Amino acid sequence: MNKVWTVLEVLRWTSDHFNRQGIDNPRRDAELLVGTALALDRVGVYVNFDRPLVEKELGRIRGLVARRAKREPLQYILGETEFWSLPFRVTPAVLIPRPETEILVEEALKRASADAAILDLGTGSGAVAVALAHELPEAAVTAFDISAEALTIAAANAHRNGVGERIRFVEHNFGTPFPGDFDLILSNPPYVAAEELADLMPEVRNHEPHLALSGGADGLDAVRAILRTAPLSLRFSGWLLLEVGQGQAELVETMLTKAGFTETFQRRDYADIPRVVGGRKAWRAEAERGSPRRA
Ligand code: GLN
Repeated sequence: MNKVWTVLEVLRWTSDHFNRQGIDNPRRDAELLVGTALALDRVGVYVNFDRPLVEKELGRIRGLVARRAKREPLQYILGETEFWSLPFRVTPAVLIPRPETEILVEEALKRASADAAILDLGTGSGAVAVALAHELPEAAVTAFDISAEALTIAAANAHRNGVGERIRFVEHNFGTPFPGDFDLILSNPPYVAAEELADLMPEVRNHEPHLALSGGADGLDAVRAILRTAPLSLRFSGWLLLEVGQGQAELVETMLTKAGFTETFQRRDYADIPRVVGGRKAWRAEAERGSPRRA
């Protein structure tokens, strides 16, 4: 009476179901979720196509498929993602690291000396801080976040990637100066403008932390806070690098210049969107010459 489902049949059904829900990459997500429910990797799924499934297995698959169909991000369901080719644990307390944020890491690596003192503002899952500590074994990395829950995840990710002893995690916010004298300060701050929040994909809008996304009315609240505080913790000639949203790069570059930064630059991501903006804190003499702007 009850139909016996094979792995392949369940994959086809799930993939069609996801497709109808408007989910990107329906077949990939189906394979990863069915694999997770059956404790099989992707090759394991392929070689078991004809295997009939017992009710308990179907129950586990249904549970995961229902979550994804409600547009819960795949990475939260799996509890894991990859950034900079390293594994990261992710929960709804942290933004899922995006591939374009690897550009921020690349630009930092071009400018950081091997033993640099680096500060990551709003570290979330710890992706940027962990990638940098991993690439720069002599560097002293500090990372802060306003969310204690995020810091727990970030610390776990640092340990998992072998850099747990090399990153100092602190509960702190963008608006308060952070004590220290860093060579490089960087951030992927929340930068989505209020009216754009509603247009984000349901995965992002309904499941990722708004604390990590929402940058206030024009999206630049966190950037303004950072430009008030970060220069106080940056040594002269040190670099400040920021990830920005689509269409924000010009304005943020101007803000950096006004805040006394020189050698400002923009770097585009793989979708050709200017994604990282940076500049160098002017030498003391230049900073003093530039200061009457306050008037
Ligand atoms: N790039 C993110 C997005 O997909 C936004 C991340 C952020 O605000 N820092 O919307």
